[in-house]
Amino acid sequence: MLAISPATRLRLSAVKPERVRKLAQHRRAAIRDALAAMMKEAEPTQFALEAPCRYGLRVALIFEGWGWGQADAEAALVVLAALAQAGARRPSWQQGQPEYTQDGHIPRTRERCQRCAAPLPEGNYRFCGPVCAKAYKIDRNRRADKEDRNAKDQAYRIAWSERQPPRVCPVCDKSFRPKRAGNQTYCSRACADDARRTAGRKVRMVCEAV
Ligand SMILES: [Zn+2]
Ligand SMILES: [Zn+2]
Repeated sequence: MLAISPATRLRLSAVKPERVRKLAQHRRAAIRDALAAMMKEAEPTQFALEAPCRYGLRVALIFEGWGWGQADAEAALVVLAALAQAGARRPSWQQGQPEYTQDGHIPRTRERCQRCAAPLPEGNYRFCGPVCAKAYKIDRNRRADKEDRNAKDQAYRIAWSERQPPRVCPVCDKSFRPKRAGNQTYCSRACADDARRTAGRKVRMVCEAV
């Protein structure tokens, strides 16, 4: 079980006990499983999506009428459960240091610029100069922002989807919940493609018959 951070504990304690709100058990489990599946794919570690998932889930619950504190506390706990399920372990202090490689402090030796691969001038250990250093940082932040937004959107949609009444897919007869607002008829892309192919065949048969 992962430890709760002091900041989270403080927030949890700020929510009055009589006002603590919990997700229904089956819904909580479904959201946790879906978030854990997302986190397993996250780069560079499962923790990359911790904050955006909590944000997305919190927003979804607030839209359902939860108070901010209630929503944030429950979102934090569900995200922790998802992290635990994804097998996340907080890195040690040493692992968090930039010099960390595998078994301790082995300074990285690089001969070329991390961005443009030009040979590194004497005294530079990552970038050929300030232009590459700055550009690399901008690229990295842009990538991180995008991943953050995607995770927020997904966490929100997962929570939203779990609240929708189930439908039956006309292709595979499986019960499913729509993933976004609108009239999603099929459970998956595969079933939708299948339906389209079948329709195409029927149209061709009719065309050949006349
Ligand atoms: Zn460079
Ligand atoms: Zn289906």
